[in-house]
Amino acid sequence: MKQKHPYALPVIMLAVFEAVAVTLWLTKDNLFYLFNFSYIGCAVSLGVFLFIRKIPYARRIVQLLVGLYMLIYLGLICNENMQIEGFWYYLFSGVFEAATIHYAVAKIFGPLIFGRGWCGYACWTAMVLDFLPYNIPEQPRKKLGFIRYLTFAASLIFVAALFLAKAGNIERIMFWAFVIGNIAYYGIGIALAYLFKDNRAFCKYICPITVFLKPMSYFSLLRIKCDSSKCVSCGKCKKVCPMNVDVTDNSRKRENGTECILCMECVKHCPKKAL
Ligand code: SF4
Ligand code: SF4
Ligand code: SF4
Repeated sequence: MKQKHPYALPVIMLAVFEAVAVTLWLTKDNLFYLFNFSYIGCAVSLGVFLFIRKIPYARRIVQLLVGLYMLIYLGLICNENMQIEGFWYYLFSGVFEAATIHYAVAKIFGPLIFGRGWCGYACWTAMVLDFLPYNIPEQPRKKLGFIRYLTFAASLIFVAALFLAKAGNIERIMFWAFVIGNIAYYGIGIALAYLFKDNRAFCKYICPITVFLKPMSYFSLLRIKCDSSKCVSCGKCKKVCPMNVDVTDNSRKRENGTECILCMECVKHCPKKAL
């Protein structure tokens, strides 16, 4: 059936981002927020528009537009540590700046609306990992998710120790932590992808940000749902899912439900258009 307003979603998404952009610009009296959130909103809306138009690689285009902007412009040029240690650093400093706002919007409160859209469309770590050859995992999922709590704790302890030790020039340390942290993430992510034949192994077992993302995305407004009257239980959706989600189960407790990155691979491959 033809949708009445096929482009409503990209328009709504742009409007939401613009609302955030204008609110932060006016409340913080800083034009950067207008530019930042308008740019991200345009990139995301463009991606949704391209997806609706069935343009191949729509998601990858957004991932590159947002991921490269954050990694190169915000991280390397503006020296803003957007990794988790940057979040702790600004939080402990009591500064409500780009990294804290970024975490609040993309990784803590945003997932209540758009789940783990961040992981599918914006993360600069996954932007590289998704170029590897194992988009569809070739091995069963491992029980290694506990590692994420260790990396989460390590990031917190690292920043807390810097504050307790009253380390000088923490800003500079944070910049180098960003550089070294990213090199480590890419190195470990690529090694694990080949080891487990799974591009997203890093996301499943190591990434500390999932400690925020998983519980919040459990309540996500935006979810893939299955029309059981059309589903013929062919299993294709689960086979192509990079995150091993059982998307045929509509309950919030679906298997690996908090892992869904809204990549739409299941939707594209369902032969009965049940998703
Ligand atoms: S799980 Fe972590 S590394 Fe993977 S896409 Fe999400 S934020 Fe990025
Ligand atoms: S691919 Fe479609 S028809 Fe097949 S199991 Fe999944 S939802 Fe059902
Ligand atoms: S394939 Fe479907 S269920 Fe799996 S992560 Fe992508 S959108 Fe979510």
